Amino acid sequence: MIYLDNAASTPVHAKVIEEMMPYFKEQYGNPSSIHKYGRFANSAIQNARRRIANLIGADSDEILLTSGGTESNNTALYGIVSQKNEKHIITSSIEHDAILEPYKHLEKEGYKVCYLPVDKYGLVDPEDLKKELLQDTCLVSIMFANNEVGTIQPIKEMVRITHEKNIIFHTDAVQAIGKVVIDVKELGVDLLSMSSHKINGPKGVGALYIRKGVKISPLILGGGQESGLRSGTENVASIVGFGMACKLARDNLDQNISHFKKLTNRLVSRVLSEIPHANHNGHPEKRIPNNAHFTFLGVNGEDLIIKLDENKIAASTGSACSVRIQKASHVLKAMDFSHEQITGSLRITVGITNTEQEIDETVEVLKKVVKELRAVSPYKSKYNL
Ligand code: PLP
Repeated sequence: MIYLDNAASTPVHAKVIEEMMPYFKEQYGNPSSIHKYGRFANSAIQNARRRIANLIGADSDEILLTSGGTESNNTALYGIVSQKNEKHIITSSIEHDAILEPYKHLEKEGYKVCYLPVDKYGLVDPEDLKKELLQDTCLVSIMFANNEVGTIQPIKEMVRITHEKNIIFHTDAVQAIGKVVIDVKELGVDLLSMSSHKINGPKGVGALYIRKGVKISPLILGGGQESGLRSGTENVASIVGFGMACKLARDNLDQNISHFKKLTNRLVSRVLSEIPHANHNGHPEKRIPNNAHFTFLGVNGEDLIIKLDENKIAASTGSACSVRIQKASHVLKAMDFSHEQITGSLRITVGITNTEQEIDETVEVLKKVVKELRAVSPYKSKYNL
């Protein structure tokens, strides 16, 4: 198989597995225990926390360990709004469900929610944000990079606008870490969500950056771990693995970015020149380097994924979660794509293990299967495919 769905999840790096193993075998102590086993586990967590902080330019004590991107987002949103009296919250219309669903829930609870629109590239206009900030706004959450089309938002500018009104700014950076340079101090964000399994770490672990001085309430109560902000015995092996994944992502960032760019540039230029009626979506420059998103006129994206799978290529129409429940992409809808464009979409996301040869093989298969699907397409004569 050729695996080209790295936005959904990534293979765990061999060095990450190696780093994790002792915490299953010999070092199984509870990090809260006073004895040597406990102290060892605790110091492994603190070391991982430093590595996680390092990837985004944070201090270790600004990192809250969680079970992943979804929990980090939920903790940020509920953790902030429960501290505030104001009842107006802002987000964008193209967020991941791990933001949109909590926002919808808050809306039911009586909060007024503003969903900022995007342009045809998936970009939020900071001027729109400026207009929507009210006296009663207590939180703005805008994703760093979109998980479907890869567009990167002008986060720094939106943080500046939001902070002028003393309002808290959170960003979901799950798809951005390890793909672009992120420095939380330079960006000025108050909260930032991360997930391990998107950067060659294990699943079920992540982190929330909480800028010093920003107060949040816990989602999970119990034994008081993570300074009382996230109770429950720590997932030591996975935290250690996530720490190593962050170290590798930081040490190899420039090299990985060039590798991703080389592969996606090759893919995009070959697809656009060799397959007729194909479009490349998302912003042409403001995008994460590992993502290439296409639409093929007259092709059903789900049929395309199945055909690719039969030809030993793993890709996606968009976000893994929305595909399961078969709903049209809210991201492409917000970008004003027609129904036909939405159904003909394909997301290819490369990772550190992919090669140029795999990209070339993929293009050859794509040419073949797109042709086959168009031959039986109901739009065949309408668009002269
Ligand atoms: N946010 C974004 C932008 C994502 O792409 C994802 C996962 O696909 C998540 C949040 C959820 O992260 P996790 O799978 O770690 O819960």
